[in-house]
Amino acid sequence: MANKEYKTEIAEAYGREFIKGNIPEINELRCMACGNCVALCKKLGPNVLEIKDNVAKVVRPEDCISDAACLVSCPTKAMFLMSKHDPENPPTSV
Ligand code: SF4
Repeated sequence: MANKEYKTEIAEAYGREFIKGNIPEINELRCMACGNCVALCKKLGPNVLEIKDNVAKVVRPEDCISDAACLVSCPTKAMFLMSKHDPENPPTSV
């Protein structure tokens, strides 16, 4: 297995430290645009997600603290993985 070097950036939230860099993958076929993830992320502070074209989207990936709170809010498991944020190579949603 090749070793990769990653730049790490730390975010402080809820009295803890989080390693930034991963964002939620969203399966657009499973998303029913309920807005749970959007509301929770906004309420917690990062405010990374929005509903666009009837599906949840990561619109401010640079603000994501990778706490994965959105994953537990999703009733359809449209999001259940966090993947490295790489604008050149966006993750393939599952
Ligand atoms: S919680 Fe899940 S189903 Fe609801 S908007 Fe977010 S990704 Fe879509």
